[in-house]
Amino acid sequence: MARVYNFSAGPAVLPEEVLKEAADEMLDYKGCGMSVMEMSHRSKMFQQIIDEAEQDIRDLMGIPDNYKVLFLQGGASQQFAAVPMNLKKNGKAAYIVTGQWAKKAAAEAEKYLEVQRVASSADKTFSYIPDCSDLDIDDDVDYVYICENNTIYGTKYHELPNTKGHTLVADVSSCFLSEPVDVSKYGVIYGGVQKNVGPAGVVIAIIREDLIPEEVDSTVPTMLQWKTQADAGSLYNTPPCYGIYICGKVFKWIKKMGGLDAMKKRNEEKAKILYDFLDNSKLFKGTVVPKDRSLMNVPFVTGDADLDAKFVAEAKAAGLENLKGHRTVGGMRASIYNAMPIEGVKALVEFMEKFEKENA
Ligand code: PMP
Repeated sequence: MARVYNFSAGPAVLPEEVLKEAADEMLDYKGCGMSVMEMSHRSKMFQQIIDEAEQDIRDLMGIPDNYKVLFLQGGASQQFAAVPMNLKKNGKAAYIVTGQWAKKAAAEAEKYLEVQRVASSADKTFSYIPDCSDLDIDDDVDYVYICENNTIYGTKYHELPNTKGHTLVADVSSCFLSEPVDVSKYGVIYGGVQKNVGPAGVVIAIIREDLIPEEVDSTVPTMLQWKTQADAGSLYNTPPCYGIYICGKVFKWIKKMGGLDAMKKRNEEKAKILYDFLDNSKLFKGTVVPKDRSLMNVPFVTGDADLDAKFVAEAKAAGLENLKGHRTVGGMRASIYNAMPIEGVKALVEFMEKFEKENA
């Protein structure tokens, strides 16, 4: 068996240990004679899996008791609609547009309320995070929305925006559990798990209880009302059982690795190797303003589309997969999530050095 170093932006690399454990338990989960895939979501066995998963993510992130943790479906994209549907009171929200995902979220929200785009980095192809220390935010907005780590462009908010007292909603799909977080600063944190946490099909939403409305507009689908799943412990209908089980294993892996402080240290170490190389390379160039660089997604270019394509093809042949940049940016992108070992980043940099020499 030869595993490659997988730099995919998502679905993405998972800890090998987790995959092996899941393989061991595939036919017979803890002596119950069946796979988690085959198990009733109403069984005691599954209840234990979801309860443990919730407790472990609460421990990891230090989630206060007045926040619900929901395991949902529909991808992060479904929450683009669920957020305005559930938080709409005055009918107005502020969006900071730092890339495609924030842009899409704003466009979706606009179907349900008035959207004010209070800042954007579109002027420079989303290569930076705008200054959010003193934004012109109306007093009556229902919330301020950010995409905290921009998967495509490789930027990250290293400081949260000054929301002027308004509820902060953050899509953390591509930085989930990559570093410690002060949950109390947010009203809603949500993300698709398919990058840092588990297999596609699960969305985790961490929502302050007072933001889960008792009643919403009667046209809001039952499944999109947060209250539906909050009241049912994420078991209103059949949840993505197997995905939740794998997320639970990843939480335990992170705990074993030393928690989010250790993840951050490890992620910083990995990212530094790659960014240091990019900063000194004569061929490759990072595309993001250094102070706003993401620890998770690292886009880079040679400046020559043909050479980029050659690099991606040769890297693949060398066991370094999925380095092609997003179609809207071109070039390359290395996603180096929690589960990417430091050896993978070192192998990538070694390959880049060799490619640079050969193509000087
Ligand atoms: N937000 C971010 C930051 C993303 O990177 C993505 C997907 N890559 C999405 C939202 C959309 O997620 P999904 O495909 O789960 O709807």
